[in-house]
Amino acid sequence: MNMEKKCSFCGLPIELGTGKMFVRSDGTIYFFCSSKCENNFALGRVSRKIEWIRKKVKRVKKKPRSRKKTE
Ligand SMILES: [Zn+2]
Repeated sequence: MNMEKKCSFCGLPIELGTGKMFVRSDGTIYFFCSSKCENNFALGRVSRKIEWIRKKVKRVKKKPRSRKKTE
């Protein structure tokens, strides 16, 4: 399974092998890139209103992943 996951809180893609999966008793699945996101989600916060998330998203979007390997 090679599905790309996105953080349910900040919306950033989660690298495979990292992050946390959270399954609610009703079957809804959430993914979190960090425990910070998990905690804030649990508190019912809105990611758009939180400054560190906006900064984080900005930072990630600024530098596009250039991991192209040309061999
Ligand atoms: Zn996140």
